[in-house]
Amino acid sequence: MSDIHTKEEEGKKSLNFIETIVENDLAEGKNDGCIQTRFPPEPNGYLHIGHAKAICLDFGIAERYNGICNLRFDDTNPVKEDVEYIDSIKEDIEWLGFHWGNIYYASDYFQQLWDFAIQLIQEGKAYVDEQPAEVIAQQKGTPTQPGTDSPYRNRPVEESLDLFRRMNEGEFEEGSMVLRAKIDMASPNMHFRDPIIYRIIKHPHHRTGTAWKAYPMYDFAHGQSDYFEGVTHSLCTLEFEVHRPLYDYFINQLKGDGDYRPYQIEFNRLNLTYTVMSKRKLLQLVQEKLVNGWDDPRMPTICGFRRRGYTPRSIHKFINKIGYTKFDGIIDMALLEHSVREELNQSAPRVSVVLNPVKLIITNYPEDKFEMMTAINNPEDPEAGTHEIAFSRELFIERDDFMEEAPKKFFRMTSGKEVRLKNAYIVKCTGCKKDENGEIVEIYAEHDPMTRSGMPDSDRKVKGTLHWVSANHSLEAEVRLYDRLFSMENPSEEKDKSLAELINPDSLQVLTGCRAEAHLKEAKPLDNFQFQRLGYFNVDPDSTADRLVFNRTVSLKDTWSKVKDKA
Ligand code: ATP
Ligand code: MG
Repeated sequence: MSDIHTKEEEGKKSLNFIETIVENDLAEGKNDGCIQTRFPPEPNGYLHIGHAKAICLDFGIAERYNGICNLRFDDTNPVKEDVEYIDSIKEDIEWLGFHWGNIYYASDYFQQLWDFAIQLIQEGKAYVDEQPAEVIAQQKGTPTQPGTDSPYRNRPVEESLDLFRRMNEGEFEEGSMVLRAKIDMASPNMHFRDPIIYRIIKHPHHRTGTAWKAYPMYDFAHGQSDYFEGVTHSLCTLEFEVHRPLYDYFINQLKGDGDYRPYQIEFNRLNLTYTVMSKRKLLQLVQEKLVNGWDDPRMPTICGFRRRGYTPRSIHKFINKIGYTKFDGIIDMALLEHSVREELNQSAPRVSVVLNPVKLIITNYPEDKFEMMTAINNPEDPEAGTHEIAFSRELFIERDDFMEEAPKKFFRMTSGKEVRLKNAYIVKCTGCKKDENGEIVEIYAEHDPMTRSGMPDSDRKVKGTLHWVSANHSLEAEVRLYDRLFSMENPSEEKDKSLAELINPDSLQVLTGCRAEAHLKEAKPLDNFQFQRLGYFNVDPDSTADRLVFNRTVSLKDTWSKVKDKA
């Protein structure tokens, strides 16, 4: 089992339509009752939250039905692929809490795929076409009009065999010829109109080097790889639905009379508001330096969410909420934020950090004294215990928690009114001092010693409670506030604008000179906290012992839209 699912979540979950199919297949004894899936990323970028949806299904089905899920790198295009991506993909899957059976590469099957292509040529089911790609595309026809046969369609088998071998030996230029399956130029399914199955690429491959110059196309590699591996359920996104007949066609050619075969089943891809999910665009964001790398906390990548403070469980929760269907749509980012908020509310210790500090002096508190106050780590979790926070004469509070002349409903600090300082005393504001520019530099208050926890007046009610830190016991911190990366709900629809024009200019705000309670000195990169009254934050890996750096994971409340919570 994945370490991250909770029993409670598993129990609540009813079957999705794919699990129903799998259970029916098991009941019918298909493929000898075996269940095998695969997650097949192309190593041409980092994984994003959409991939997490596929991962939860591929690995989840295997776990639930005692099967295995393999990780297969779909590395059939050496130009775009890189080992950096392979490593990151493995790390992200493990972080999500899944374990693969084996690791395979589509390139492991280059020889078998080649042999199968030769078989098809020999059977008169494939031929080498020397026309340029544009001409081949034009001859495809339209869904209502049949295509036109290539003049090379009926060339002798020997000729195709010879040319195909020489394609692979590097004799011909890229684009000068391709191998096409000979199926049906009048088929109502465009994918059957003699699809291209091999092309020439001379760029070295990250695993096979220069051994191959003819590379299989996705449609030729994917299903066959499933077959070679023993996959029973090949789960993919809806855009592959129209490819399924071709998938089955090749499998039928390959398996002959055998009983075993993989089945392709499609589900809806995840699209999220205020972001883009295509790896091409994510790469562009990185290359154009519109973000600070693949793991920029604004990115919808798994490593971006990890750095932002999302936990694996919060991502699982979200994926469980959205489910799997046969209809494409777009999910409100607020639902994802809701999932992480819900999760961190249960798990994140509460601490005090002042983002925009102003001094508060407790004038009736001795100068050389300090007291350690008890702070409850998490009111949602009694087992989370407590920690101590130092209280002294000089404190910091948030600048906007004070108003010199406040409206009636301002239940924070203003002259003559009482507020509670969280975990400490009730204090009464007595005034403030300003500099020559009129900026407030100090606020004054008197504390009531009887209102500390355990004292007779500790239960006295006041309207406002403020967070604070002790000036001499707190640490300097940088806090990075993130907002949505794009200004509009569906950036993918803005076809005439560049990505740079679509970016939310306020998506990152860096606050320096923030003050964090001393307890945070022990915090490690990625640790999650709730900053009292402000939101959920985590320690950024840029953080050092001298300079703490935090990321805002999510604010305490949704400020964008109403959550359409389907749970
Ligand atoms: P992109 O278009 O972003 O490059 P891709 O589909 O080409 O994505 P792959 O690496 O080929 O990316 O994807 C691996 C698996 O993840 C495939 O099975 C694919 O269907 C699935 N997948 C990719 N994007 C999504 C998404 N947004 N939602 C759900 N599944 C996805
Ligand atoms: Mg792909």
